[in-house]
Amino acid sequence: MIDLHAHTTASDGSFSPSELVALALERNLSAVGITDHDTIAGWDEAFAAGEESGIEIVPGVELSTAYEGGRFHLLGYLFERESQLAITLEEIQRERGNRNAQMFENLAKLGVPLEESEVRVFAGRDEGELGRPHFARAMVARGYVGSTQEAFDKYLADGSPGYAPKKVLTPQEAIALIHDAGGVAIWAHPPMRKKVSYDELEERLRDWIGWGLDGLEIYYSQYTPEDAAWTLAMTEKYHLIGSGGSDFHGISKPDVHLAKTHTGDAVPDGVLNELKERRERNAIALKN
Ligand code: AMP
Ligand code: ZN
Ligand code: FE
Ligand code: FE
Repeated sequence: MIDLHAHTTASDGSFSPSELVALALERNLSAVGITDHDTIAGWDEAFAAGEESGIEIVPGVELSTAYEGGRFHLLGYLFERESQLAITLEEIQRERGNRNAQMFENLAKLGVPLEESEVRVFAGRDEGELGRPHFARAMVARGYVGSTQEAFDKYLADGSPGYAPKKVLTPQEAIALIHDAGGVAIWAHPPMRKKVSYDELEERLRDWIGWGLDGLEIYYSQYTPEDAAWTLAMTEKYHLIGSGGSDFHGISKPDVHLAKTHTGDAVPDGVLNELKERRERNAIALKN
């Protein structure tokens, strides 16, 4: 079995890439996808750990995109490191730095100041950019709020007073960047945006298929039976790859476990073969 959706300390996970690979070994996975938010900084360490333990590393990224007033996550897999996508990820990281500086300023003005060092504690690394979940945990540690959810509700959620926006791609841009880099584009957990109905999601899905979307997640730790049935139906109706994984983050999402999706189990090996076949097909299409 495999798990194609996991985060590390390269973004907002609490396990380092090598700790994640060690856990994958413990859970008897044969392959694990490294899908950090907007960065591939975890790849090298994961590849090295994978080589040592015999676990196949599926290199990936989870891109944040904005479409018709909503935020959607798009996964890219098996793409080249020497690519415009990788350059764009660097740009996104730099802009995130500017955006975080703005959030520190906003929070100070709101009377809930934070030092970068106390937020960084929750990132588990000395460099690289911080995310709102790290801010939220620092606010709990300071006693400003009772929970990370309260931190989001009062200060950090989109549109709330501490929030500052960051650069986001459109799904069309993201799909093109992934394909131009030789990768496969998968819509992450489409139904997890609760404000958007299945019918509205299907409209977006049709647009994205027009831009070359390869598949969507049909396995996911937080799917309800309805979500699972709907995503599966969409892959059948539109001949898409059905991918997925746990979306493991470590202690920042304590209810989510590596190698566990809504089925109670990990993802079948065949899904990785489908991703690889699609990668080959896309490469041929790109040449012609
Ligand atoms: P950032 O990339 O810094 O904008 O942080 C995005 C992350 O913050 C998301 O992946 C979620 O984990 C978390 N997040 C965003 N909005 C909320 C919210 N309203 N409630 C709880 N968590 C949120
Ligand atoms: Zn995350
Ligand atoms: Fe996501
Ligand atoms: Fe994720």
